Amino acid sequence: MRIVILGAGFGGLELATILSDALGDDAGVTLIDENDAFLFGYSKLDVMFGRAALGDVRLPYADFAKPGVLFLRETITAIDPDARRVTTNAGVHEADVLVVALGADYDFDATPGLVEGGSEFYSAVGAERLRGVLPGFTRGRAIVGVCGAPFKCPPAPSEAALLLHDYLSERGVRDDCEIALVMPFGTPVPPSPDTSAALLAAFAERGIEFVPGRRVSSLDPARRVAMLDDGAELPYDLFLGVPKHRAPGVVLASGMAEDGYVPVDSRTLETRFPDVYAVGDVATVGVPKAGVFSEGAARIVAASLVAQLQGGERPAAYDGRGSCYVEFGAGSVGRVDVDFLSGPKPTGTFQEPSADLVAEKQHFGASRRARWFNR
Ligand SMILES: Cc1cc2nc3c(=O)[nH]c(=O)nc-3n(C[C@H](O)[C@H](O)[C@H](O)COP(=O)(O)OP(=O)(O)OC[C@H]3O[C@@H](n4cnc5c(N)ncnc54)[C@H](O)[C@@H]3O)c2cc1C
Repeated sequence: MRIVILGAGFGGLELATILSDALGDDAGVTLIDENDAFLFGYSKLDVMFGRAALGDVRLPYADFAKPGVLFLRETITAIDPDARRVTTNAGVHEADVLVVALGADYDFDATPGLVEGGSEFYSAVGAERLRGVLPGFTRGRAIVGVCGAPFKCPPAPSEAALLLHDYLSERGVRDDCEIALVMPFGTPVPPSPDTSAALLAAFAERGIEFVPGRRVSSLDPARRVAMLDDGAELPYDLFLGVPKHRAPGVVLASGMAEDGYVPVDSRTLETRFPDVYAVGDVATVGVPKAGVFSEGAARIVAASLVAQLQGGERPAAYDGRGSCYVEFGAGSVGRVDVDFLSGPKPTGTFQEPSADLVAEKQHFGASRRARWFNR
């Protein structure tokens, strides 16, 4: 069976690894990505605040060597889900099973003024650029502003605001600066009231203004003002944006997407096209856009394919559960465990920041580096 996986992010890497472990040289997997390296989302915060160099956190796909998996560095230019045919800048790939794991892309044009008048920390390029900009910010108002929902890793804007507080404090300029956080949710992490309460308390202690229930709709670079979706205006000296997200253009052009993402059966990750699955941020699954959920979805698809090939039982339905580590600043890390699919509404529990959770977060990264990249 020719299994073609599009995208080598959290979802694609986990899926290819499980298939290789289970099927070895016979896995018949082709994994395609246009990049030459993988990056954990949270590494962008480390890069932006100068805690790590981009080169040190990039994980080259050259180190992803798995039996039965062929990695191709190619740009996907067209997907035909009916024929399960993929066109890239290097040729055409026919699949018996196609798995779309192309993540969410950024729609910078959806927020007029963002490119000219602001910065963003959600791409590697944006984080690297901010690393050079932040040292020059010594007074005035910084806004961490979300330009649309859904967006990846819902706690990340809160983390950015708290880490910015640390960064400015360490440099002795915090008293000359204001920090505001604009978010389209009513609370920082809606499914977990305890996590939200802990974050709101952390903002209050540090004098970070939380502006809930609104998104940034445009920037006026000439006046240095952020326009919110309710018509309010917030002046800024430094704008750290979370751009509006959407599925990559090639997915939108394929006819697979509805309302910006690929609809799937959330129990099985099947699309409406036979033998075509979609996992992770590219899909509408009913879970947040975060690496842990992309991995969880990939595990269900892997188990289905292994069962199909080896005649075992199909896996249970995807449960939509995941844990995210939350940076509270000053080196402390908390954890939120969320469950999106098993009950009538999403729920979440919170673990207070602790030294154990700092170690757990390190283990989260180290275990994936070892498992996927033999590091
Ligand atoms: C600041 C920040 C902090 C975060 N922190 C966390 C965290 O602590 N925990 C967590 O779980 N998640 C976190 N995330 C979210 C996480 O990074 C994403 O949700 C996750 O990467 C999604 O995995 P995925 O496999 O669905 O897609 P991705 O990891 O985005 O992978 C998609 C892949 O597709 C490739 N691709 C796209 N288009 C093409 C094309 N046309 N041709 C070829 N290749 C293509 C891309 O190069 C990419 O490698 C964070 C994100 C950010 C931005």
